[in-house]
Amino acid sequence: MKSGFVAIIGRPNVGKSTLFNSLMNTKLAAVSPKPQTTRAKISGILTSSDYQIILWDCPGLFQTKDTFNKKLVKIAINSLKDIDLILWLIDCTKPQDESDEFVFSCIKKYATSPNKSSPIIFLLINKIDKINKQDLLPLIESYDKLYNFAEIIPISALKGINIVQLKSTIKKYLPDGPQYFPDEIITDTPQELILSEFIREKIFLYTKKEIPFSTGVLINEIRFIEEKNMLYIQADILVNKHSAKKIVVGNKGQMIKKIGSSARLDLETFLKLQMKKPIKVFMDLYVKVKENWKENESIISSMGLVT
Ligand code: GDP
Ligand code: MG
Repeated sequence: MKSGFVAIIGRPNVGKSTLFNSLMNTKLAAVSPKPQTTRAKISGILTSSDYQIILWDCPGLFQTKDTFNKKLVKIAINSLKDIDLILWLIDCTKPQDESDEFVFSCIKKYATSPNKSSPIIFLLINKIDKINKQDLLPLIESYDKLYNFAEIIPISALKGINIVQLKSTIKKYLPDGPQYFPDEIITDTPQELILSEFIREKIFLYTKKEIPFSTGVLINEIRFIEEKNMLYIQADILVNKHSAKKIVVGNKGQMIKKIGSSARLDLETFLKLQMKKPIKVFMDLYVKVKENWKENESIISSMGLVT
């Protein structure tokens, strides 16, 4: 059996979570057009008769002075430890600059592998659906000078271009190893964390300006009610001021309803896959004002955002 740990690494917004979901063939990670959508390390387990890939989706790596963002970056950096393969994702529509250099410097500095002195790196050039083919070659050439990448693969995570090929190439590079998880397990990330990422995704999709960045989700209760075949969830959306609460609640509660019902649909799809049967979800969401919650260590740790 071939098995190993594979991390998707890159600066914010290059399409890491989109790639993660695409490789997993299902939605486990939050995706939005805004940077810093992903706040947690989410695992995805792909099992076949002869291989098991344990895939990590991580927050983006970027230089920041903000204490909260530094925590997110640390989550990504920690996922570089004991990794068999790194998928370094870049966005071919963005010019190559110091933010890519920063990602690469983190990989060089922190990446370790249980099997070799340093992990294998694939360079994945994403969003190729947005550029002309002839613009790809110079990009490949310029990155090729940087490092002896095991593979350089142009992909489109969104359109599914080269994803099947990528999966079989990953398999080729995995070391011989045990089956770490049973066949049916698709993730070992706690349900709370996946759920709070789903809720946050909707906030990122439906609200503007600083609102998504200033909100956090705290899951207070998850309870399965057997006789109703229903998962009851009570969660708080934390905002840092009253004006933000007004927006997230919306006129006559319309916004919070929209956030809740679309997060519920995502969760029901996820649960059906994980539990192998349909389960209803009841979502009880409140918006609470908690000034400076991003500086409150105990809140952050109850959100599960510690590495
Ligand atoms: P992350 O921050 O790196 O996890 O990026 P996301 O997966 O959240 O994606 C950021 C944005 O890029 C979203 O709007 C995605 O739909 C978009 N995106 C991701 N992959 C592709 C791609 O292959 N092509 C195009 N055109 N857009 C993509
Ligand atoms: Mg992401």
